[in-house]
Amino acid sequence: MNMKKMVPLIAANWKLNKTLEEAVDAASMMKIMLSDVKDKEILICPPFIALAQVYNVIKGSNIMLGAQDVFWEEKGAFTGEVSPMMLKDVGCSYVIIGHSERREYFKETNEAVNKKVRLCIADELNAILCVGESFEQRQKKVHKDFVEKELEEGLARVKREDMKHITIAYEPIWAISSGDPNHKPATAKDAQEMHAFIRKTLANMFDDKTADSVRILYGGSMKPDNVKELMAKKDINGGLVGGASLEPESFARIVKGF
Ligand code: PEP
Repeated sequence: MNMKKMVPLIAANWKLNKTLEEAVDAASMMKIMLSDVKDKEILICPPFIALAQVYNVIKGSNIMLGAQDVFWEEKGAFTGEVSPMMLKDVGCSYVIIGHSERREYFKETNEAVNKKVRLCIADELNAILCVGESFEQRQKKVHKDFVEKELEEGLARVKREDMKHITIAYEPIWAISSGDPNHKPATAKDAQEMHAFIRKTLANMFDDKTADSVRILYGGSMKPDNVKELMAKKDINGGLVGGASLEPESFARIVKGF
């Protein structure tokens, strides 16, 4: 495949962390620390309650705002849910969809993920579709089949021209830190192998040109000391960072570390 150079995207997923004040403080510090970054796109995804105020902090800077989840209906009797339009209204340009924690704890299926993806496309909100296998699946060597199914079902009925709104995040579940510092990231070689496989799957589903234009982020214990090696790989176009994105200094070292 003939890859054109893509601007890397580094996204911070703060998960269920930070009070409103802590989120505003962290965003303010990141804005200062990262103000000189011109060659990368930067995204922070705070909890819902902090979105509007964090947007006030980063508006007009080189940092974009994203949410960690979204619902698949525009409005109505869906207690507790938030729509793509509501997220855009508070300043979001991205949303994470189908994170493995949502799939595991909230039983999100590929069908639910697909409904969310398609409404985001209709509403022109960029979606980061997360895929990735468990440790057992990798041991049984069914990891590629599993990720292929997540892509095929998660992107069902998505048109090739709509793929400009889609970013893929490959997050092997066994590599996600979950706050445990002993979790190991995938090796850069294993990550590249899966990223190339994901791109090939997208080429089969759409075409080579579309597949080459989609950013594929790596997620799973990305840290200041491994970002360079991971980002040197041909098919790794950025990172989705959990634990190491909570401290502004460590997130800034990741963004500036390659
Ligand atoms: C994540 O869960 O999206 C993630 C990448 O987490 P961590 O960086 O903490 O492994």
